[in-house]
Amino acid sequence: MANVDYARDGTAAVITFSNPPVNSFSHAVRGALLAALDRAAADPGVRAIVLTGSGGQFSGGADIREFGTPASLASPRLHDVIAACEGSFKPVIAAISGVCLGGGFEIALGCHYRVARNGARVGLPEVKLGLLPGAGGTQRLPRLVGVTTALNVILGGEQIPAREFADTALFDRVVDGDPVPAAVELAAELEKQGKLVPRKVSEITLEEPNLDALCEFALQTVKAKAPLAIAPQRCIECVKAAGKPFVEGAAIERRLFVELVQTPESKGLRHSFFAERAAGKVADIPEGMPPRPLDRAAVIGAGTMGSGITICLLNAGIPTWLLESDRAALDRGVARIAGIYDAQVKKGKLAQAERDRRMGLLLPVLDYDAIGSADIVIEAVFERMDVKLAVFAQLDRAMKPGAILATNTSTLDVNAIAHATRRPADVVGTHFFSPANIMRLLEIVRGAATARDVLATALALGKTLKKVSVVSGVCDGFIGNRMLEHYGKQANYLLEEGASPRQVDAAMEAFGFAMGPFKVGDLAGNDIGWSVRKRRRAEKPGYKFSTLPDKLCEMGRFGQKSGAGWYEYPDGRRPQPSKVVDDLIAAHRKEIGIAPRKIDDAEIVDRLLYALVNEGARILDEGIAARSSDIDVVYLTGYGFPATRGGPMFHADAVGLPMVQRRMREFARNPHGDAESWKPAPLIERLVASGESFASVSSAPASVPVKGVAA
Ligand code: NAD
Repeated sequence: MANVDYARDGTAAVITFSNPPVNSFSHAVRGALLAALDRAAADPGVRAIVLTGSGGQFSGGADIREFGTPASLASPRLHDVIAACEGSFKPVIAAISGVCLGGGFEIALGCHYRVARNGARVGLPEVKLGLLPGAGGTQRLPRLVGVTTALNVILGGEQIPAREFADTALFDRVVDGDPVPAAVELAAELEKQGKLVPRKVSEITLEEPNLDALCEFALQTVKAKAPLAIAPQRCIECVKAAGKPFVEGAAIERRLFVELVQTPESKGLRHSFFAERAAGKVADIPEGMPPRPLDRAAVIGAGTMGSGITICLLNAGIPTWLLESDRAALDRGVARIAGIYDAQVKKGKLAQAERDRRMGLLLPVLDYDAIGSADIVIEAVFERMDVKLAVFAQLDRAMKPGAILATNTSTLDVNAIAHATRRPADVVGTHFFSPANIMRLLEIVRGAATARDVLATALALGKTLKKVSVVSGVCDGFIGNRMLEHYGKQANYLLEEGASPRQVDAAMEAFGFAMGPFKVGDLAGNDIGWSVRKRRRAEKPGYKFSTLPDKLCEMGRFGQKSGAGWYEYPDGRRPQPSKVVDDLIAAHRKEIGIAPRKIDDAEIVDRLLYALVNEGARILDEGIAARSSDIDVVYLTGYGFPATRGGPMFHADAVGLPMVQRRMREFARNPHGDAESWKPAPLIERLVASGESFASVSSAPASVPVKGVAA
């Protein structure tokens, strides 16, 4: 519950705001805070005002639950609260512990004095949402810590320990214990010295003879790093404006903030932010549903994925049995895990003692009876139904009642696996991405029989492992890989029609992907897709996919691991165009009777993206994904989709579904195209007819428009 507490400690009024979990400044808190400031002003015994947050946190900033609602704009706004703090004729001291971020930090900057606990963390994360600190942060921070430090804080967007600012004017005191009594004490000492007066940061003159040069250098740096990112450039403009009188600088900050709120980049980033927070919320799983215990885990199969998943569990401090079919494979798995940890130790990312502690939680075994008391077991054996069914029969026999039986299958039917046991309600899919110890995405596959508390436990596991969980229904490829197949299909058709792998990759990279599809194929191994296509062709006689990538694999060009793929890798890692591949493509075109044409980059981008979107629409319509933003999260966290673009479904909404539908129809007319796959999904047809967007069929909180973190 949001509230503001008013108490007296001698001649100090202690105002404590509370809005769990991080004391965000909701409209209710802002109003109550102003009232408390008024009360302190009117209280004749009060000589100073201490402002602090409850529960050991100062404030995480604006209340994201208010984003996009009228409450975020309603008076009193954050600016009003900051103006009241700075304008108070009784000195206001911020007592800071825990987090002090965004608008919370800007309030602290508006106070006359600041006392921080050593371990408190301050920061201005707005740039990560494509915004700038819009409530005076860009004007006050440079006046206290200098231009270079302020630029680093504002452009980095990170949380920084208060102790790093101990020697700056940002803090009057950095203390080990509770900052509230320290703030009261500071007030008493200042009073004794006759120095207890309001000090307005806005009245400090920024003394920096090299202001222009420092800002120019920062500008060149951010432009070189991310030329299309506007927000960092605007942040620098604001810091430069801190050289002007405060009122002028603040007006510039305001104007640029309002401008940034409207940029597609910020809209995309904000959508990504909200989509991630909405993911993992499941309509019929109440937030407080108690999960089953997750104290001990087991992993079956110590290959690529099993090893990575085991590392995730060990990192979370969960003792984990690792089971293999034979000693040699088990030893290889343990060595792989140790090798990954050792590399981290070597790079200074992990302390040797911590590495040893984690390895001490690993229990390698060959016998199912040894793992029977695990709370959850995650299977990561070969992707073959017969092998999986044999493993699940063993698990059914060996595991204690109530244990969760999870499978990491990428494509197999989780329902079929579940029904091979006598406890299908305990079976769930946990689809990790490779490398499992690094990739943030976890697709949780809800089977027809999966119990609600099992799903709640899988979601809890995701949180424990610091993953972003998205729930998917059962289908071939789940959300991500099912869509990816269509993306890959178009990428290969584009080669047949006239594009080169480097042109396709360059076009997607210019859109914002870290890597285009052919570089990704070379990195992941082209043989993976090859084996999927072989299976598809056996299962579905009419299955349509270019045979060009098969020809590449027949040449043994699996990618980086075989030294060559769509590209050559003379130095092992950096892709170089390949004459062999160019010849292969030319011969393939001849064989299938296609005269190459010039293809522009816009066609490449639209064909690849709309292939994703069309399948995404089917996935949404079938209820495989609960909301379009979940599909976006899968692509943002698992497939390198640029966060500034908000994900494929958000992108389609931003372009406008009528335009997307038009393009699909255009692509369907391509004589070489795959007309069937370009038929707009029924959901797209319906949404275009009703003038709606994908977001309107989602249960995610409103993502746009947002009037700003500091509004
Ligand atoms: P892998 O071949 O690297 O490892 C499989 C391991 O399972 C091997 O070590 C093998 O010895 C062991 N194994 C086989 N049968 C066993 C049995 N009966 N009992 C115990 N151990 C057994 O395979 P991987 O790439 O780690 O894939 C494992 C699973 O994860 C598959 O279902 C795969 O589809 C899925 N997956 C893979 C990726 C990926 O990128 N590699 C990504 C997501 C999901």
